[in-house]
Amino acid sequence: MAVERTLSIVKPDAVGKNVIGKIYSRFESNGLQIVAAKMLRLDDVVAGGFYAEHAERPFYKDLVAFMTSGPVCVQVLEGENAIAKNRELMGATNPQEADEGTIRADFASSIDANAVHGSDSPASAEREIAYFFAASEICAR
Ligand code: ADP
Ligand code: MG
Repeated sequence: MAVERTLSIVKPDAVGKNVIGKIYSRFESNGLQIVAAKMLRLDDVVAGGFYAEHAERPFYKDLVAFMTSGPVCVQVLEGENAIAKNRELMGATNPQEADEGTIRADFASSIDANAVHGSDSPASAEREIAYFFAASEICAR
């Protein structure tokens, strides 16, 4: 299996619930290393551009409003099979459908406020990492 990097976001609902550390702990205890991290407040342009693939979806406006409603933590996770591994740890988009023990099952309250983002493919990981981090901000271990 290849060592990969993926882009993860702790969304405003989870930051507001004070569970950043608990979510980081899920990554660390499952073989993913945090190799870059920052907390920031997204504006409409940054959040809208990040979710550009969903621009035509009915939930896009609400999604951008939610993602700009409070601070987020953005991080790059590195490890074997990191992209799929992170998606597995996150659980399904709708927390009501998320497997027991996943981040969304444990910390998310709705499909809108679902605690975390994770890249869904190597191509999106590459785009999303570059969207938030310069190469010099990623600390190879
Ligand atoms: P994921 O975050 O699991 O990759 P998507 O990429 O499909 O899910 O959607 C991006 C985000 O948009 C979701 O995490 C969720 O916050 C929001 N979203 C997706 N589908 C819906 C929906 N049907 N209603 C409201 N919000 C949604
Ligand atoms: Mg997605």
